[in-house]
Amino acid sequence: YATLSAVVTKQTPAFDGKEAALLVEELRINFNTGRTKSYEWRISQLQNISRMIDEKERSIAEALHQDLSKPELEAFLAEISNTKSSCMLAIKELKNWMAPETVKTSVTTFPSSAQIVSEPLGVVLVISAWNFPFLLSVEPVIGAIAAGNAVVLKPSEIAPATSSLLAKLFSEYLDESTIRVIEGGVPETTALLDQKWDKIFFTGGARVGRIVMAAAARNLTPVVLELGGKCPALVDSDVNLQVVARRIISGKWACNNGQACIGVDYVITTKDFASKLIDALKTELKTFFGENPLESKDLSRIVNSFHFKRLESMLKENGMADKIVKGGQTSEDKLKISPTILLDVPEACSMMQEEIFGPLLPIITVQKIEDGFQVIRSKAKPLAAYLFTDNKELQKKFVQDVAAGGIGINDTVLHVTVKDLPFGGVGESGIGAYHGKFSYETFSHKKGVLYRSFAGDSDLRYPPYTPKKKMV
Ligand code: NAD
Repeated sequence: YATLSAVVTKQTPAFDGKEAALLVEELRINFNTGRTKSYEWRISQLQNISRMIDEKERSIAEALHQDLSKPELEAFLAEISNTKSSCMLAIKELKNWMAPETVKTSVTTFPSSAQIVSEPLGVVLVISAWNFPFLLSVEPVIGAIAAGNAVVLKPSEIAPATSSLLAKLFSEYLDESTIRVIEGGVPETTALLDQKWDKIFFTGGARVGRIVMAAAARNLTPVVLELGGKCPALVDSDVNLQVVARRIISGKWACNNGQACIGVDYVITTKDFASKLIDALKTELKTFFGENPLESKDLSRIVNSFHFKRLESMLKENGMADKIVKGGQTSEDKLKISPTILLDVPEACSMMQEEIFGPLLPIITVQKIEDGFQVIRSKAKPLAAYLFTDNKELQKKFVQDVAAGGIGINDTVLHVTVKDLPFGGVGESGIGAYHGKFSYETFSHKKGVLYRSFAGDSDLRYPPYTPKKKMV
C-alpha cells in the first residue's frame, strides 16, 4: 500500500465558522445560477464519479485497508462496486427520475392537468461515518447530485486515509464550484452545522444524530438520519444449519468484523437448538478465518484503540468470561479481536444494552422461537432484523410484527444491495431513507403543479354565494 501517500497529498486547512459561512455562501451563489439543475450538469458529474471509481479503484482499496485493514475483496464488494452500481443506476435512470409525473385532477379543477415536479433542495450537507467510509460518503452524494443540488461532504476523521483521498479525488474529478469535501472532526462539523443548509444527510450514531437534528431545527432544515442500533437475528430450528452459519458469519465478521450498522448484533434461538448453531458457527468460522483468526488477512481490524478498549471492556465485564463459547482473543497492538461468541449473557450487561459494533456475538436463548419477538420488541427499533426459518407463517408474522428499518429473511445484510428497496431506519435507528430512486427523492422537493387554461371559469366558486349556487 505504498502508493497511497503518493495519491493523498492535499490537506484541507483548518476550517472554522467564518470559512464555513463563506463556503455555503459561495455554493449558494453557484447553485442560484441554475447550473446544477440541468440534466447535462448532473449527468456529467455522475459520469465523473463513475470514472473516478474506475480509475482510482486501487487507491480507494488501499485507503480502506489503511483505515480498517479492510480485505481487498470485501472493500471491492461492499464499498467500491456497490457505489459504482448506484452511480450507474443514477446515470441510467436520471431522465426518468427527472421527468415530471402526471397525476389525476378532480372535478373541482376541471378542465386542468397536474404534475409532480422534482426540484433540487439547494445546498446540502452530507456527514458520513468511518465504517464504510467510501460508500457512506459517495452514495448520498450521488443522490444529491442526481437531484441537482450543490453538496458539501464531511467524511469521518476516524477513517483519515479515505477522508483525505475523497477530498483529493472530488477536487480532481468533480465541479469544485458546487461540490466540496471538508475534512475534520467535531470542530469542523460543528462549524458546518452552524450554517443554514437545505438538507442535512447524516450517517452515524444516535448521540451525534441528536446534535445534528438540534442544529438543523434552528433553521427548520430537514434531516435524514442514518443511524444504527442492535440488529437481531432470530434463528429457528428448521433451517439448513451450514447456510445459516455462513450467512450469520457473513453478516457479522465478514462485514467489517462486526463494525457495520446492519451487521448482526445478537442472535436469538431456542434453548434446544443453541448448541447445534454454535457448533455450526465454530466449524464455518474455522473454514473462513483459520485456526488463528487474529492472523487472518480476511478480517478487518478494530478501527482505533478507543473502540478496541470499548469492546474489550464489554468482554471484561463481570462474569462475561464464563459466557464465552468461542474466541475471546485480543491483540491491542494489531487492534484485532477474534470472532467471539457468548451464550446467555445477562440482559443487563452493556453488550445487550448498547450497539456492539464489533466482533462480539451474544446468543440469547428462548423457550419457543416466537418468544424471540418479545426480546426484539423490548429494545429500540433496529436498523435491520433477520429471521432464519423455512416456516412461511413465521416469516409472515416476523415481517408484520417486527418493526425495523429493513428485514432480511434467511440472509443477512444483502437487502442493502437491492437498489429498489429504501434503506433507512425507524425510531432510534433513523429518519428517512435512500438508495436508488429513494436517494433522488430524498434530495428533491416534490412540487405539486396545477395547470389550467382560461376556459371553464364557472361562477360557482365566486361570491356572492347565492342560495342557487349552494343547491348545485
Ligand atoms: P458518529 O456519530 O460518532 O460520527 C459520525 C459523524 O459525525 C462523523 O463524521 C463525525 O466526525 C461527526 N461527529 C462526531 N461527533 C460529533 C459532534 N459532537 N458534533 C458534530 N459532529 C460530530 O458515528 P461513527 O462512530 O462514525 O459511526 C458509527 C455509528 O454509525 C454506529 O452507531 C452505526 O450503527 C452508525 N452507522 C449507521 C449507518 C447507516 O447507514 N444507517 C451506516 C454506518 C454507521
